[in-house]
Amino acid sequence: MVSIVYPHYISEENMAVGQDASGKDLTVKIIYIKGKGQTAPSVYMQASMHAAEIQGNAVIFELLAHFCQKQPLGDITIIPQCNPIGLMHRAGAGHQGRFDAMNGDNWNRYYLCPEIDYDAFAQSHITSDTAAYKREFKTLLAAEIDKALSDNLSLTRAKRLAYSVQRHAVKADIVLDLHTDTNAIDYLYSPLYAQEASGQFGFAHVLLIGNNFGGAMDEAIFCPWWRLQQAFLRQNRKEDVLIDSFTLELGPEEVIDQKRAQRQADGIVNYLAYKNVLPASPKGIKTVQYHTRESFKAIYAPRGGLYEWFISPGQKVQKDQVIGRCLQMANNQSFDITLPYNGLVVSINGKGALPQSAHILNLFTV
Ligand SMILES: [Zn+2]
Repeated sequence: MVSIVYPHYISEENMAVGQDASGKDLTVKIIYIKGKGQTAPSVYMQASMHAAEIQGNAVIFELLAHFCQKQPLGDITIIPQCNPIGLMHRAGAGHQGRFDAMNGDNWNRYYLCPEIDYDAFAQSHITSDTAAYKREFKTLLAAEIDKALSDNLSLTRAKRLAYSVQRHAVKADIVLDLHTDTNAIDYLYSPLYAQEASGQFGFAHVLLIGNNFGGAMDEAIFCPWWRLQQAFLRQNRKEDVLIDSFTLELGPEEVIDQKRAQRQADGIVNYLAYKNVLPASPKGIKTVQYHTRESFKAIYAPRGGLYEWFISPGQKVQKDQVIGRCLQMANNQSFDITLPYNGLVVSINGKGALPQSAHILNLFTV
């Protein structure tokens, strides 16, 4: 048995993020790691908001062992299993996972990107030093989330859960949201401004996304800071975007793979060393391929049927190559599957029986 015993600088507590129909609290465990540095960046990390995406927990287990051995410089807050509703909700052999079964909400689309008068904030802090306005802006963001959370009659389960964990995430300088794809390679989503830092994770593929908000955790964290940077720029003050926020895709869902987790944890350790959260020197980075949002293609089933694949995640495919076969028993027909793109397979839907328009593949096109 491997049992993690916390040193004096690590503690944990439970936080309520909802209630079941008996009125009993639904809670998540929060782990607090106190850094020994005075000025090091702080980190927030969570996994399994999409409950079928469990690999992040194996990664957190590896990271915790590391943090127990060597005290970080920066404070680190971790919510390993941040969705107690999805965790319990099974559909047949697997987690229902990605959506609230009650109303179809995608658990990763209801974070808060507050409406703030960025120009007014920048104007009122035009002479403040960076540390001062950063502190004030974090306080403002936390207050906005508190306000949204107090609107008790308006909160769906997804919003209540998202805001509850976001309340912790907004305090941090670095936010890592650990997800997985279906049957997939490792890759991560990075805002454009953080391209250089994103290479430090050692993932071979990085998907660069625009600085806009679609409801996900990473976007809800970096968008306000990017907008603030733009507001300062309009007043001729050049500032960095002060917060890093990434979604990490750690391979296939419903799968735990310790070897892979060690590699992924090493990548996170390297990035945290690069950001001076850990007392170590970052290693040199491997080659990283950066992909644009436009090159990322989600492909949907052109017809319903039984799908067999001749390719696997990470493999290159050519335009018009036969990559699989679709069998239609209703029509006694089979079809070759081809795509009009050259590219790299990011992920494949591992389920055999698929209705028309089910999501079947993600591809980085070239
Ligand atoms: Zn996910």
